[in-house]
Amino acid sequence: MQYIVRARASFDAAHQLADEKIYGSRCARIHGHHWTVEVAVRGTMGPRKVPNVERRFLQEQLAVVCREYDGRDLNRMMPVSPPSPENVALQMMERLQFSFVGLWSVTVWEDNATSVTVEKEQVP
Ligand SMILES: [Zn+2]
Repeated sequence: MQYIVRARASFDAAHQLADEKIYGSRCARIHGHHWTVEVAVRGTMGPRKVPNVERRFLQEQLAVVCREYDGRDLNRMMPVSPPSPENVALQMMERLQFSFVGLWSVTVWEDNATSVTVEKEQVP
């Protein structure tokens, strides 16, 4: 039987998305958000009905990564790509994929109204 384990953590960080054509004027000047990140990991039940993904470990690892972002200027942390929610989700996926084989998706909220989810591509 398969299941999905989810964990959330938050951090406060600033960013600036200068390209108004793509991101609109709302994020054109440097400003802060209270970012929330949710990761989802697919797991399977072992022969004794024991899950192979430990929820507390998942939450702890996500919290470690979020602490690295807390209080930071994301433009300095992500000099190659714009620090949009999409790219923050991608970077989180890259950071966590080696810790969790079944990492399925990363969702990022920069406000309460919208979120972005990046899903791991299926390997045929
Ligand atoms: Zn913004």
